[in-house]
Amino acid sequence: MTEFSDDIPGYDDENIFAKILRGEIPCHKVYENDDFIAFMDVMPQAAGHTLVVPKAPSRNLLDADAEVLAKLMPFTQRIARAVRTAFSADGVTIMQFNEPAGGQTVFHLHVHVIPRHEGMPLKRHEGGMEKGEVLMANADKIRAALKTTPKS
Ligand code: AMP
Repeated sequence: MTEFSDDIPGYDDENIFAKILRGEIPCHKVYENDDFIAFMDVMPQAAGHTLVVPKAPSRNLLDADAEVLAKLMPFTQRIARAVRTAFSADGVTIMQFNEPAGGQTVFHLHVHVIPRHEGMPLKRHEGGMEKGEVLMANADKIRAALKTTPKS
């Protein structure tokens, strides 16, 4: 991991995703392996909005290890396929933000995986909190779809 220069802060391990990774706060987990965890976004921009989070600490794409990035896309593809199946989606939007000016609000690298349906606009980023039971049911659907989703 590369350190940022003086004008961009480095990694702060008190960010909310670091706390989820340490098990200090809960999440609606979809899948986990040695390198990544995928869980439901609590303020989904569409039903099934999932976050892919590398376990290795980095603030965002700009300071991430190349080895992590090389594994991130195949993992994201697998989650995206399962999300598409689980929500019978017409498409999947993948988003990733870097620094506040780039739209980032949580400073641990993550990728958004959002199922899309024709003609349905995305809800606002950082909109309302979804009910826990809805997130749990959506995570269950994706977990079930993963069982039949081929690995890359
Ligand atoms: P970004 O703007 O890419 O940094 O987006 C951060 C995302 O994290 C937003 O979509 C939030 O809704 C989501 N988020 C914030 N806190 C949590 C949390 N505790 N569990 C799951 N998702 C979260």
